[in-house]
Amino acid sequence: MTAVAAIGASERVADCTDRFQTFLDQEVAPIEEELAQQGAGTASRPQFDELGRMHPAVWEARRQVQRRAGALGLYAPHNSVSAGGRGFNRVEMHHVEEFVYRRSGLGLGLAALAWTEGPNPAIEHCSPTMREQYLQPLIAGEITAAFCNTEPSVGSDVLAMSTHATRDSDDWIINGKKAWITNSHFADVLQVVAVTEPGARTRSLSMFLVDANAPGVTRGRDLPTMMADGLTGTLEFNDVRVPAENVVGEIGDGFALAMSWINWRRLCRGGMCAGWGAWLLERALDYTQQRTSGGEPIAAQQAVQHMLANMDADIYQARATSLVAQAELDELGPFAIPMHSDAPRLISLVKVINDEAFFRVADTAVQVRGAMGLMQDSPEEKLFRVARNLRIPAGTSEIQRNGIARGLLKRRAA
Ligand SMILES: Cc1cc2nc3c(=O)[nH]c(=O)nc-3n(C[C@H](O)[C@H](O)[C@H](O)COP(=O)(O)OP(=O)(O)OC[C@H]3O[C@@H](n4cnc5c(N)ncnc54)[C@H](O)[C@@H]3O)c2cc1C
Repeated sequence: MTAVAAIGASERVADCTDRFQTFLDQEVAPIEEELAQQGAGTASRPQFDELGRMHPAVWEARRQVQRRAGALGLYAPHNSVSAGGRGFNRVEMHHVEEFVYRRSGLGLGLAALAWTEGPNPAIEHCSPTMREQYLQPLIAGEITAAFCNTEPSVGSDVLAMSTHATRDSDDWIINGKKAWITNSHFADVLQVVAVTEPGARTRSLSMFLVDANAPGVTRGRDLPTMMADGLTGTLEFNDVRVPAENVVGEIGDGFALAMSWINWRRLCRGGMCAGWGAWLLERALDYTQQRTSGGEPIAAQQAVQHMLANMDADIYQARATSLVAQAELDELGPFAIPMHSDAPRLISLVKVINDEAFFRVADTAVQVRGAMGLMQDSPEEKLFRVARNLRIPAGTSEIQRNGIARGLLKRRAA
């Protein structure tokens, strides 16, 4: 194993990936086979319900995988031991995420590891009552969450949001609209970010845990994107009453907590892009050795070899960046509140380098296959759309570059 490949590949990572391998083979594969018989389409060309949401059979199969992974302690290795996770650091998580993405491709196995809908670093700041009510069931895969930050007219400019919470004796009353929320259709608990002190800049926001079926919460329509996941939608809050114990952290911590959630998603790009990138490269190598031109495999053509080499170069540099930056971040505390001043630049480097490298990899994976790569039920076509999507959620590429430049200038000023 090379030095970079070996960074942080601890014994417990090897144990975790071995257990994942067994779980994917023995438990997920039969659920996947059963799902294939249920007329829900494929991962590349899914069918939806009448409202455009994820097909109920797919959702139920994912939930089954999550519950079983939770029962085996595989679902949330990134959460702290005190919360019921395994306390894996970010480099260890890179290895686990890379393994699951490479091994699952576009399969159901992807649901086995907590993603946007799972427990996250921000929610660990909740009260003991909320730990019991929401955090522990989330870690066990028994319920799912949605992170509600973006609004119809406010995305990157988080501090300009208008959803607000006002105090009413021991409770808070939330009003506002959220948009582009992953898992808005199905979540049991909503992590809502709202204004509690207008004008207080980074102390103006707070985070609340809201029962998704509470009076005043309306799940809106699906927002179909080019990813076609049937999971992204709108939410409306009309006089939603929330007890004070549902506040995550302290009043005024909302911006820092939202960034902690968002930064978690940014850092997960490392293992995701390395895993999917390697999966696409293997498929490209297979294809170029089978497909012929002029009586020989296209892999013999230098132009095709260069495409393969470009894929390898992109995957290697993105993966190396992720491992090195996440090792540095593990020293700084990747989700510490307040954050170390060097952390935002490193996190943005992981996101922008991985997102942009993976976009090139997915584009080349399509090109290598010619017309076959454009077919609507090909994994390459699906991952090309996913890769295009990645450059927007959890902070656009431009916002990452802002963060990198800010970090550089701050360091120079210091
Ligand atoms: C599939 C999907 C899932 C999502 N899931 C969630 C979720 O679960 N929860 C959630 O809260 N949100 C979610 N989002 C929202 C996502 O985080 C936002 O779309 C993203 O932050 C960008 O915001 P915006 O779309 O409003 O774009 P805008 O902020 O309006 O940006 C438009 C353009 O202007 C540029 N721009 C804006 N401001 C600046 C600036 N200051 N400097 C430089 N350039 C700038 C942007 O880079 C972009 O190119 C999701 C989005 C998608 C597409």
